[in-house]
Amino acid sequence: MADNQITVTSPLLPDLDEFQQMLKEIWDSKWVTNNGSFHKQLEKELAEYLKVPYLSLFTNGTLPLITSLQALRITGEVITTPYSFVATTHALWWNGIKPVFVDIDPSNCGINPAKIEAAITPKTTAIMPVHCYGKPCDTKAIQEIADKYGLKVIYDAAHAFGVEVNGKSILNEGDISTLSFHATKVYNTIEGGAMVMKDEQTKKRIDYLKNFGFANETTVVAPGINSKMDEVRAAYGILNLRQVDAAIEARRKVAEAYRAALRDVPGITFFDEMPGVRSNYSYFPIFVDAEKFGRSRDELYEEMKAANVLGRRYFYPLISEFSTYRGLPSATRENLPEAYKLAETVLCLPMHHALNTEDVDLIVALVKK
Ligand SMILES: *Cc1c(COP(=O)(O)O)cnc(C)c1O
Repeated sequence: MADNQITVTSPLLPDLDEFQQMLKEIWDSKWVTNNGSFHKQLEKELAEYLKVPYLSLFTNGTLPLITSLQALRITGEVITTPYSFVATTHALWWNGIKPVFVDIDPSNCGINPAKIEAAITPKTTAIMPVHCYGKPCDTKAIQEIADKYGLKVIYDAAHAFGVEVNGKSILNEGDISTLSFHATKVYNTIEGGAMVMKDEQTKKRIDYLKNFGFANETTVVAPGINSKMDEVRAAYGILNLRQVDAAIEARRKVAEAYRAALRDVPGITFFDEMPGVRSNYSYFPIFVDAEKFGRSRDELYEEMKAANVLGRRYFYPLISEFSTYRGLPSATRENLPEAYKLAETVLCLPMHHALNTEDVDLIVALVKK
């Protein structure tokens, strides 16, 4: 990475000396994985921080998605969004489930509840929405539909670490929520993730499933997988949890500066704070109306790249455009007009805790040029 490059994100790193002290403890204990003491500590601290009743750590953010479908015995068809990171739909594919794409609501980039019912068939068993950019989905409307048709709801909450609505964690919505702690996310354990569930019974089952299905030394209760987090990354996670609030506050200031600078630029739109929502400022997407702006989204993206500022076109292309999924009946432009529109106009500006005023000024100047 070039010294003068501004990347779209940057990992929140713990203090190296403190981390080394914890490594020493791990070395002394000779217990490096399989539900060690840092693993237990991080699960407890995260559940408290996130205001959720039960949480299980995972080795990344994709395996809790895959495992949640196993745990709830989801089959047949699942309704989901094409406007996400590809792992959301891949999790369905790995379970032999047919994804059914429903268009999004451009006001929060999440699945549009008004369009869900028309996609339900006798084979539908669940809805898998995404709190895209950490913006809460319309969870109330989604739950009403799920209750009416007897469907499970699994939220891909990879972007929604710490997001609250009216003081309540968004992670308590639906049957299960999953988180990613990948290095690119607001809170990271390098690679890592978690699942949030509502009762002890489900947590127990999930903990078996993420450890090959072992219930004890000699009993395997289900064909589980290995998706355990190790002690080294749990220790890293404990340290990062102590500084995540400061990182979110630094992100808030960047978002505020972007908004102030870009508010009156013709052809550029972005999200304002949502009332009652504790945001985590995980991404700062802008949407480019080429006609009014005078340049296309891709022209802006390339110009910024030439100046060593790396934005990202999240989420372009849509998941439904990838070769695995584009043959599905629901994967058409006619079915997904809003998703296509956003995918073709979105550009996520650099957003992380370490951006300084000069960085933001440079990025803003490139947009305004
Ligand atoms: C990052 C991400 C994932 C996958 O998480 P990993 O930890 O990289 O496996 C899943 N869904 C969404 C929406 C993501 O952004």
